[in-house]
Amino acid sequence: MQTERPIIIAGGGPVGLVTALALARQGFEVRVFEADARINDSPRAATTHAATLEMLERLGLVDEVIRCGLIEPKFRIWDRASREIIAEFDFSMLKGDTRYPYVVQCEQHKLCNLALERLRALPNAEVEFAARLVGFAQGDSGIEAEVESARGVRRVSGSYLIGADGGRSTVRKTLGIEFEGYTHPERFLVLTTPYPFGGEFAQCSRNYFSDPDEWAALFKVTGDGGRGLWRVLFPVRPEESDEQAFADSGVQARLQRFFPSPNAYPVVHRNIYGVHQRVAASFRKGRVFLAGDAAHVNNPLGGLGLNFGIHDGLELCSLMTRVARKEAPPAILDEYDCIRRPLNVEYVQEQTIANKKRLEEKDPAVRAKNNAALRATAGNAVAHRAYLLKASLIDSVRKRKAGSA
Ligand SMILES: Cc1cc2nc3c(=O)[nH]c(=O)nc-3n(C[C@H](O)[C@H](O)[C@H](O)COP(=O)(O)OP(=O)(O)OC[C@H]3O[C@@H](n4cnc5c(N)ncnc54)[C@H](O)[C@@H]3O)c2cc1C
Repeated sequence: MQTERPIIIAGGGPVGLVTALALARQGFEVRVFEADARINDSPRAATTHAATLEMLERLGLVDEVIRCGLIEPKFRIWDRASREIIAEFDFSMLKGDTRYPYVVQCEQHKLCNLALERLRALPNAEVEFAARLVGFAQGDSGIEAEVESARGVRRVSGSYLIGADGGRSTVRKTLGIEFEGYTHPERFLVLTTPYPFGGEFAQCSRNYFSDPDEWAALFKVTGDGGRGLWRVLFPVRPEESDEQAFADSGVQARLQRFFPSPNAYPVVHRNIYGVHQRVAASFRKGRVFLAGDAAHVNNPLGGLGLNFGIHDGLELCSLMTRVARKEAPPAILDEYDCIRRPLNVEYVQEQTIANKKRLEEKDPAVRAKNNAALRATAGNAVAHRAYLLKASLIDSVRKRKAGSA
């Protein structure tokens, strides 16, 4: 329908594919170009929050996400040294606020595959793998993108371009938009093991361990075999090389220090990531938009980055649909940057920075104060609900709606 030329999306990660599905379901012609030959299945996001589940419901994806994932209403914050629970939060408190009073732990590559399957069934959507956007030019009426594949470099015309091409976004760099913020000195190591932590953590599959020397996080995902895998996340200090962090001896020592076991831990996957808190200075320039990690990156404590990226995609789809249906003038597209950028700072950057700071705090007096505050929040029904409305991004969606009312 609405646009004469397709909307071009650079990046077939979760944000690119879900955004493409939302747009294609509204009748837009959509073309996605993904640089890799296949969907990336390295262990990254899994936690899908209530506000996002509601959006996935509108796309007809939520039942399958729940089927592929693991429902978890709670999360716990522990003191690592004493193994005492500092506070337990329970999304069941949000029963009156959402149809999904829990998170679903569903690995992001599964969401990608579900979206891809739907896109392939739509005549107005095309997804091309091993095709990299290498440049583009924009005019008053459209976009000319340059796409490189085994066939060489070709030009593709579009109406708009969405850069969903991740943290190192070519689209953002080509636009010359600053990625403002900072990089944490430490990297994050993710170890995936079938070790049955369930014995000790049977009642809760999302756990954060606060510690002045080495905090940790422990999450369960279903895994591809459906039998369940645990991911353990640790910080890696700048002086430790990737090789040292990946070495079997280092991996076993870290896991044994975290949770002593008589046997060696089976480790099926190990990965290390640089961690940043950065937000693009603008999410839009003319006919080009940034969404997901191309627009903002953050540490994964709280599980917010991908969730917010999906919200970006749905916001953009809603604005473009209103323009295409002539329900609103094209100037309304300005709202995308005006709304998404401050919401990211308030809900994603602030929460993830605070979560990390609290877990790693070294000063005993500050730790005690933080722990007392967490206990007080968890112990008071009004404060508990308010905390979870923010943590689940329901508040950010409500704030956006209130602003447009
Ligand atoms: C350890 C870890 C745990 C995390 N846990 C959570 C969590 O629980 N919940 C949560 O919400 N978030 C989490 N995140 C964050 C989440 O993984 C990211 O926010 C998410 O991957 C962003 O999706 P995206 O589609 O924007 O970018 P990406 O997943 O990076 O996808 C971008 C895609 O673009 C492609 N691409 C790049 N350049 C080009 C180009 N020039 N042309 C064409 N294609 C291109 C890439 O190949 C890639 O497939 C976690 C991150 C990490 C590292």
